[in-house]
Amino acid sequence: METQTKIWLSSPHMGSTEQGYVDEAFRTNWIAPLGPNVTSFEDAIADYLENNVHVAALSSGTAAIHLGLKLMGVGHGDEVLCQSFTFSASANPIFYLGARPIFVDSERDTWNLSPELLEEAIQHRLNAGKKPKAIIAVHLYGMPYKVDKIHALGRKYSIPVLEDSAEALGSSWEGVKCGTFGDIAIFSFNGNKIITTSGGGALVSNNKEYRNKAVFLATQARDNAPHYQHSEIGHNYRMSNVLAGIGRGQMEVLEDRVQARRRNFRYYTEALKDLKNLSFLPEPEGLFSNRWLSCLLTPSFETREKIRMALADENIESRPLWKPMHLQPVFENELHFTDGTSEDLFERGLCLPSGSNLSTSDLDRVVQIIKSTGL
Ligand SMILES: *Cc1c(COP(=O)(O)O)cnc(C)c1O
Repeated sequence: METQTKIWLSSPHMGSTEQGYVDEAFRTNWIAPLGPNVTSFEDAIADYLENNVHVAALSSGTAAIHLGLKLMGVGHGDEVLCQSFTFSASANPIFYLGARPIFVDSERDTWNLSPELLEEAIQHRLNAGKKPKAIIAVHLYGMPYKVDKIHALGRKYSIPVLEDSAEALGSSWEGVKCGTFGDIAIFSFNGNKIITTSGGGALVSNNKEYRNKAVFLATQARDNAPHYQHSEIGHNYRMSNVLAGIGRGQMEVLEDRVQARRRNFRYYTEALKDLKNLSFLPEPEGLFSNRWLSCLLTPSFETREKIRMALADENIESRPLWKPMHLQPVFENELHFTDGTSEDLFERGLCLPSGSNLSTSDLDRVVQIIKSTGL
């Protein structure tokens, strides 16, 4: 039997200029430490996001969350509110700082933080005499969370919001780009994200001091002295000039990548619209998703698994939605405010191949297999 070529969930998609910027780094010996690609990449991100934001290119999105929480003053014994329906990298840095998470469930409209449950969690902690130090809100799969409501709660209770925009470069809320709403926002350029530097991330803020302090902490917290002197604990979290070259080229094709991912989503919804027991997350009014991953909701866990296995048999990668943090063995003892939404989405949901480099015949292969499962 002939095996069909593999279709990946979300694979890197280079444009035509990335290699040139990387070559330039070699030619000029800007292999290390920092260099012109890093500055240009940061400028390209800031120009794209508008709203006078300041950008620090870092080694990963996880590093950006770690530094972001540190800059918000999160430390030993503190509590941080965190969306439960997310990838573990949203929550792990809370533990790096000796703090504890309080997980909060999602709402049906956006699959992101429920404003009601968030407020319930905040009040519960205030009543316990323990004011949370930060809120981590995630634009999951590129769909913006309810920016107005979540940030209004942040202001009402004076709790800073860390905007985890790792999956949402190119998304916007009421015409304003995601990554510009949080006291601090972060992006990821990991290999499977909408654009990639093979591995990398960024911390973004309209507070320039946050940006500069992030760079200071990311480069070993060196004091201004001719010798190596340190008054604070530092990290080695800066992005390399070689990888930033890839990022420079990727920023030039970002709009194309967003359009291609949205085209995938339209293709799936259109081709599967007659299967009435399958559904997709619509874009609520005013929200614009980059559709990083196209996610399908099936009627049951069994149907989801049937589709996933049928695709796997044909060499096609698909993946269940993120397993909520409050269900993860490593976090099972943490406090959480949940109503079953993310558990239900996790059971019934499947991420379909979503790369910007998929062809129409790739998408059609996926559709035909889903149809053939006889739903
Ligand atoms: C990818 C991702 C991260 C972490 O980014 P890395 O660059 O892989 O460290 C954080 N949060 C979410 C929601 C992500 O999807």
